[in-house]
Formats: sequence, C-alpha cells, structure tokens
Amino acid sequence: MNTTDAPLRDTMIPSADLPWVPQAEGVWFKPLRISTSTGSWVNLIRMAPHGRVNRHRHIGAVEGWVLAGSWRYLEHDWTAAAGAYVFEPAGDVHTLVVEGDEEMITLFHVHGPIEYLDEAGEIVRVETAQSKLDLYREHCAAHGLELDGLIV
Ligand code: FE
Repeated sequence: MNTTDAPLRDTMIPSADLPWVPQAEGVWFKPLRISTSTGSWVNLIRMAPHGRVNRHRHIGAVEGWVLAGSWRYLEHDWTAAAGAYVFEPAGDVHTLVVEGDEEMITLFHVHGPIEYLDEAGEIVRVETAQSKLDLYREHCAAHGLELDGLIV
C-alpha cells in the first residue's frame, strides 16, 4: 500500500486481489486508487440487476468505462453498454439504474465529491474520497483484510 508519506511510484494492482465493498443495496465498489489529497478516486462499481444509485450531483467531473452489462441515467436519453466511455461534467445530476437482468461493472474515475439528493433536491449525504476510504477501512477491519490498493 502507498501512503501519503511515501513517494509516488509506478504501481500495478491486480484488481482481483481487492474486495468488493458494499456501498448500498445491490451496489459494491472495488477501490483501485483513493486520493484524499486531491479528493478524487478511481473505483470499479458493480451493481446487481435492477439496482439503483440514488439521484446525486457531482461536484467534479466523472469519467466511466463500462466493462460489463449496461446502465442508464433516468435523466438522460442514452444507455451505456460494455465498451462505452462516459463523461459527466461537474454539476451533472442523475440517477443510475440497471434495467436488465445482467449485473453491470464500470470503472469510474471520480474527480470530486458526490452529493446525494432527496426528492426535494436537498442534500442528504455527501460522498468524498475520505468517506470512500473510511468505508473501505471499515470493511477491511470487519473482515480481517489488509488495506490494499493505492491510497495516496
Ligand atoms: Fe454519477
């Protein structure tokens, strides 16, 4: 594991060695790189068929690369399927849904906090690089796993 005290160096992390950490009902993330210093993170997101990530707003841009399955945003008119690259500008508000019977896996590079919104558009929860790291740490502690991946 790299820490903030260690100099940055080239790193190769077999993703198979990292755990799927539950983040919501039917939604898991695999932490590849979490940078609390820049507030950005790179993770694989896995979602069960018919899963949903509640409506949220991105403070920074997001880039996605769909590896398996397909999904769409209720607010947009396109569907992202395996092989698709997705760009979401800062400020985008959307609700991610998996409509088919197949799970999806997508690599997301998230360049800033995510504000989860209620029906009235009020912020109910904020996800950050730090909160992702905290969730990952708790998962590792609860399952006797070593904190792995690139934490810088
Ligand atoms: Fe999003």
